Amino acid sequence: MSQIYGAKSSTLQTLTVLGSTGSIGKSTLEVVARHPDKIRIFALTGFSQVDLLFEQCLRFKPQYALLVDPDSANTLRTRLLPTGLDVEVLTGSQDLDLLASHDSVDTVMASIVGAAGLSSCLAAARAGKRLLLANKEALVVGGELFLSQVRAGGAKLLPIDSEHSAIFQSLPEDPSTWNDRIEKIILTASGGPFKARDPQTLHLVTPEEACRHPNWVMGQKISVDSATMMNKCLEVIEAHYLFGVDPSKIDVLIHPQSIIHSMVEYKDMSVVAQLGTPDMKVPIAYGLGWPERIESGANKLSFQNTPPMTFEDFESNRHRERFPGLLLAWEVLRSANGAPGVLNAANEIAVESFLSKKIKFTQIHEVNLRTLDKYLPRSAKSLDDLLALDLGARDVARQVVEELSSSK
Ligand code: NDP
Ligand code: MG
Repeated sequence: MSQIYGAKSSTLQTLTVLGSTGSIGKSTLEVVARHPDKIRIFALTGFSQVDLLFEQCLRFKPQYALLVDPDSANTLRTRLLPTGLDVEVLTGSQDLDLLASHDSVDTVMASIVGAAGLSSCLAAARAGKRLLLANKEALVVGGELFLSQVRAGGAKLLPIDSEHSAIFQSLPEDPSTWNDRIEKIILTASGGPFKARDPQTLHLVTPEEACRHPNWVMGQKISVDSATMMNKCLEVIEAHYLFGVDPSKIDVLIHPQSIIHSMVEYKDMSVVAQLGTPDMKVPIAYGLGWPERIESGANKLSFQNTPPMTFEDFESNRHRERFPGLLLAWEVLRSANGAPGVLNAANEIAVESFLSKKIKFTQIHEVNLRTLDKYLPRSAKSLDDLLALDLGARDVARQVVEELSSSK
């Protein structure tokens, strides 16, 4: 049974953008700027980027702006004073929940990176908002509890991740028919910057190399996840929860040109795919406009000038050796409740440690494996349980990082 709920959109949406200073947040505001008659910004949030949030306030005149870091919030408040704009500046993580669930808000773009966005996603779900989910880690950690809050609140959960938006666009309107009709969900993956690299040399990869994605410009964390293919691992888990399909029905296909964003294979062997230029404004506009289509500002896909589309099986060309993390998706979905959350926490710590040069690129997978081995998850019945699980797994992952970095 699907967890995506439908309802017609109202004429003027009020929107909170959680993580407006990030890559998805900025693309969201580019789409919003094209539709002043349809979308009004209610609140914008970031962690500490004062200059950018200040500019966004001048341009979009939200009622609220929030920076989690208190010093940055104070600076923003001071800078906004002489402008005469009526923007209330908030700080701290708790008020993220408030801005996600406020009565005046119709739609929430969840584009904070990592499990830090979980609580605000749940707040939006409980309050019955139209929830545009870019923050895949929140669903990976939240799992069934996240979905139960969506159901209880009567929220509308719409995927923003390009693959999941593609699948959603390739599925029939009535979610109750999905399970009977779907043979496979085929998630495409670009393979990132190292799809052809000799796996024996991956330990030499630098953060700069890992963040240089061939097709997409994204935040640092997801760029590293794309280079290890942990991003695809998280996306398999995300697809399982979003579309209610068994993990055995989810396949990954490497498609370096990123033109087909994902596909659904049906029982009759018909395959429906969604295509477009690799630009996140497309799935963002789809989420904002759904069930209508609104302009995204993305470039048109030119079939004549597109390089030939190619596909590689994950089992071919030493991809298994190159990207060992991908298979953890099926493993954690098979094992105890809470295991996806442990994997996510370990991976967040591992990526952070790689970016700060404490561990090597190849040790990201080692941190994930060892944390999964050492930390036994318990099933989570509340947000507090999930947060405790996340914190516990982070502690274990940090110990593993220390062990690895001291044995260098
Ligand atoms: P970025 O790193 O570019 O942006 C992250 C945003 O979250 C920023 O606004 C940042 O604020 C804010 N933030 C960071 N830490 C915290 C915290 N602890 N509490 C509150 N806010 C915080 O990430 P992306 O935009 O690339 O990704 C966002 C999410 O979307 C991720 O889950 C990613 O997997 C998903 N996604 C991204 C895609 C992309 O193309 N970028 C594609 C598909 C999914 P500040 O700027 O002040 O640090
Ligand atoms: Mg994606």
